[in-house]
Amino acid sequence: MLTVLNPATEEPIAELEQAGVDEANAAVARAKTAFPAWKAVAPADRARLLRRLASLVEEHGEELSRIESRNVGKPISGARAEVGMAAEVFHFYAGAIDKHYGESIPVGGGVDVTFREPLGVVGLIVPWNFPLNISSWKLGPALACGNTVVLKPAELTPMSALRLAELVLEAGIPEGVVNVLVGKGSVVGSRLVEHPDVAKIGFTGSTEVGRTVMKGAAETIKRVTLELGGKSANVVFADADLERAAASAPYAVFDNAGQDCCARSRILVERSAYDHFVALLIEATRGVKVGDPADAATEMGPLISAAHRDTVASFVEDEPLFRGAAPNGAGFWFPCTLVEATNDDRIAREEVFGPVAAVIPFTDEADAIRLANDTPYGLSGSIWTRDGARALRVARAVEAGVLSVNSNSSVRVSTPFGGMKQSGFGRELGMHALEGYSDVKNVFLSTDG
Ligand code: NAD
Repeated sequence: MLTVLNPATEEPIAELEQAGVDEANAAVARAKTAFPAWKAVAPADRARLLRRLASLVEEHGEELSRIESRNVGKPISGARAEVGMAAEVFHFYAGAIDKHYGESIPVGGGVDVTFREPLGVVGLIVPWNFPLNISSWKLGPALACGNTVVLKPAELTPMSALRLAELVLEAGIPEGVVNVLVGKGSVVGSRLVEHPDVAKIGFTGSTEVGRTVMKGAAETIKRVTLELGGKSANVVFADADLERAAASAPYAVFDNAGQDCCARSRILVERSAYDHFVALLIEATRGVKVGDPADAATEMGPLISAAHRDTVASFVEDEPLFRGAAPNGAGFWFPCTLVEATNDDRIAREEVFGPVAAVIPFTDEADAIRLANDTPYGLSGSIWTRDGARALRVARAVEAGVLSVNSNSSVRVSTPFGGMKQSGFGRELGMHALEGYSDVKNVFLSTDG
């Protein structure tokens, strides 16, 4: 049995049966059986079903937000935003289905056309930090393209996926099209990766497990999309609006208690503005409201588990620049922490995945670019400057998939999201995600005789 905990109280929320290899095989078989009929559903009808699902997610928004907040320990305000986005994602792909065109290509002797074909059964493996949201990023395009799916939520956070599965059926999406498996990554996750009837794995999680998934997928030449870890840079030049940059920086690291692949956990600051900026940053960090996730004013909740809290704590050995307050007693709490570092320190090289930021000075633009790129990761990042040409120059030079200028936001429903380097490959969200859930088929029709 799997005991699911509330990380803010350490109280059990649910006891669930765990699937094993047999259940994983059965889920793949159900998805395989459902595939031909789902593929044959007219795009406009598939769109109608996805729209209904989007509306149901909206109607049940408060219920889903509470489920997510309790299971992940995330502030209810953040959970509401994520559930709202999940509904928007389903709306977006409902609208996108009939705009994902093939081509007609000029050739001699006939007509050549391309079709976007669904892949078949796809395995969707998601992490515990944004369970419903990241599930929607994968389900939306996968279903829109005509695939059937087996969704595996993380062991720690299966609750919202189970509720979503009920809403999928209520929306009228046929049985077998969406299957949810609660179980261990090393058992059911790896079974999906090696199963010969699974055509693709859409994976979000750590770079370490991503590597295992990629190796496992090689055996059956499975397609993979890998959304992995990050160690993103928030680059602050001296000519930036320092007040705005400092006010925004804490939320770029401490949102979701730092358990965010896009966390700008390396704050690079031009040396001439360093002392002033650090003073502003400490003040802004002091203002982060940490506490009961159910309180609408709360901005940061606990970490996901006791084991994860130990890992995060291991990164803060010396006296930090700043350590905030956190509740005592039950719950896996960890305070907002700012640490002065060099880019060679462990805290600047490894993904902490907690509310801990490394603050690092740089000398000039070339130094900033060098430091930003001196990491195996390449997911996201920010550039703060009032110089438009510099903003574009640096954005082009930083090796990351998702960059923002004078902003720390990374995610929009209609724009591509994904990593470079060891942060993975493939793009989610926007029209680009449809590429990852379809294959191009080329058909030539001879017009001779
Ligand atoms: P994880 O890699 O431990 O687990 C992710 C999922 O993979 C879980 O469902 C887990 O059960 C499953 N899994 C574990 N072992 C497996 C195996 N051998 N085969 C198949 N599946 C297996 O990650 P996590 O701790 O749940 O999440 C945190 C990580 O996710 C961080 O590194 C974070 O940066 C990353 N992340 C990336 C993005 C992105 O879009 N780039 C988004 C969110 C989180």
